[in-house]
This record gives sequence, structure tokens and C-alpha cells, in this order.
Amino acid sequence: MQINALAALEKGAELQPFSFQAAPLKSFDCAIKVLACGICHSDIHMIHGDWGISRYPLVPGHEVIGEVVEIGSHVTHLQLGDRVGVGWQQAACMHCLDCLKGNHNLCDQAEGLIVSGYGGFADYMVVDSRFAFILPAGVSTQAAGPILCGGATVYAGLRNAGMTSGQEIGVIGIGGLGHLAIQFASRLGNRVTVFTTSADKADFATQLGAHEAILVPAGGSPPLPINKLNIIINTANQALDWLGYVNYLDSNGTFVFVGIPSEPLTIPITPLTSKQRRIMGSEIGSPAMIMEMLQIVDKFGIQPMVEMFSLDQANEALQRVLDNKVRYRAVLTM
Ligand SMILES: [Zn+2]
Ligand SMILES: [Zn+2]
Repeated sequence: MQINALAALEKGAELQPFSFQAAPLKSFDCAIKVLACGICHSDIHMIHGDWGISRYPLVPGHEVIGEVVEIGSHVTHLQLGDRVGVGWQQAACMHCLDCLKGNHNLCDQAEGLIVSGYGGFADYMVVDSRFAFILPAGVSTQAAGPILCGGATVYAGLRNAGMTSGQEIGVIGIGGLGHLAIQFASRLGNRVTVFTTSADKADFATQLGAHEAILVPAGGSPPLPINKLNIIINTANQALDWLGYVNYLDSNGTFVFVGIPSEPLTIPITPLTSKQRRIMGSEIGSPAMIMEMLQIVDKFGIQPMVEMFSLDQANEALQRVLDNKVRYRAVLTM
């Protein structure tokens, strides 16, 4: 199969047309005709080689929605014509304790779709079918892409931190991740407090279901807490006054990082020990978590807010993401 894609041919390069011949399908592989593909900030990090793991030519795109057009000999859960979504992960060893527990995202041999393969900025894509998830009928093709990476990241982060319902949940940052975290937490019956530096975004957050928006001066500290929160999820990528936020946690509260600031975390220990608070991290989501999330998205009408672009506008769309101008996720349609 010939695949026509867009690729960065070298570190930091603009995307340009790149065609290649896909290898014959392995037994668990499937080929999909790409219908839409979200743009995630990780695509930009990979194009720029920021993490030292990029290989060129690099075809970005790891929020892929497509239609199954071919399946390998061992694939039984997918049929031709199925509409599927693929996120960051495309492989795991399937044998280690983490994999056997269903936590494939924690496997030491986990592989990223655009790290070891070619992503969804293309007409077709080949992927291990065990990382391609059937979309419920109510989940729209255009909006679904951002759910597969951004959505999974915040849904798994909140669940891994212990979110159920009837809790007080805090969300730091209202962007591609935060606007989805607000919806998951509030639709599942929690009271949501958001922290933002923007009055406009505070209004938007309440439209999305947040119950309270706390304005924080840019580069400053949040006001002293009144309500205490059970879980706070951080979606911001810059260093903040972490202690100011940890003080918002109730006893036994959990602070979970999904946004990853580059600076090390420095915090006094007593605010943790005296209230049995936890700080944890979470990254993407396991296959089981993604399937559960897709059901929740369908049942509760979680809707990413997207700006649509055509594939030949990919460079322009990437620039808008880089400039933080997109409200709140960009999606390419093929
Ligand atoms: Zn991503
Ligand atoms: Zn494994």
C-alpha cells in the first residue's frame, strides 16, 4: 500500500509531501483510511526533536480517526468499515506485569505511534489493531481525535487520582487539556473549581460546567483557599506556585500532574505529611481506560472544542497551536 503523508524531513522543518510504501500487515495490524487527525502539542515537540527521540522523516499525528480498510490474519475485534480512533501508543510487550494488569501505557517497551512509526497526517495509516479503538456511534469523527490523546490524558489522570463522583475537583489551566477535564469531572457529578489567569476563559469554564472559577494573577499565587478540594489536576506546562495549590487540597487529597513543566518540583514536605496529601503523575491512558472514556464521552456528551483545518493547511495549523491561538484543539480533516 502506498501512503501519501506530510512529514518533517529534518529537525524543525516545515511539513512537506512524503510518500512511502507500507510494509505488508503483520498478524495483529490493521490499515485505516484516515478521516481526521487532531494536533497535539506533542506533535510539535516531536517535529522539533525536543525529546531526543524523533526519527526523520517524521509523520506527525497521534489523534487519528479512521475507517478500517484492511486487517491482519489475527485481528478478530475489528471489521472492515469500523470507525476507530488511535492515540499516542501503538505497541507494548503484552507480557510484562504492567501489560498483564492492563496497564499497557506503563510497559517499559511501550512505543509511541510517531516515535517508532508514521502518524496520521496521511491518507492511510497502519497500526497494531490492539491500539485501535472502535468509536461509539454518537462520537463525531471530527471532534473525536482530541479525545484519543488529550481526552485520555485528563480522564486517566483524574481516574488514577481517585475521581468518582460527589467530589470537589480542581483544574489548573483551561486549554486543550483543561477544557476536557472540566467536562469529565462535572458531567460525572463532581463540583469543579478552575484556576485560570484569564477572565474570558473563566466565563468559558463555567459554560463548560465548572462551578467556580478562581482568577490567578499571571506568574502569581492563587488566593488563600476557602473550599478544600479532593483532587487537583494540573494541565499547565509552566512552573507555578505549587505549594499555593497543594494548600487547596483537603486531607487525603491528591494533586496529579498531566501537564509537565520542565522545572523540578520543589515543595516543603510538612503540608503533605500533616494532611496525608499525595502528589502523583499520570501519562496517556491504558487501553481499558481509553475504552471506558469513549463510553463516557458518548453517554455524557463530552465535546472537545475544535478548529478544523484541511490537511494542506497543516503547517498553518501547527503554527497556530505553537502560538497558543487555537481554541482549544486543532483537527485536520483529510
Ligand atoms: Zn498527544
Ligand atoms: Zn509490557
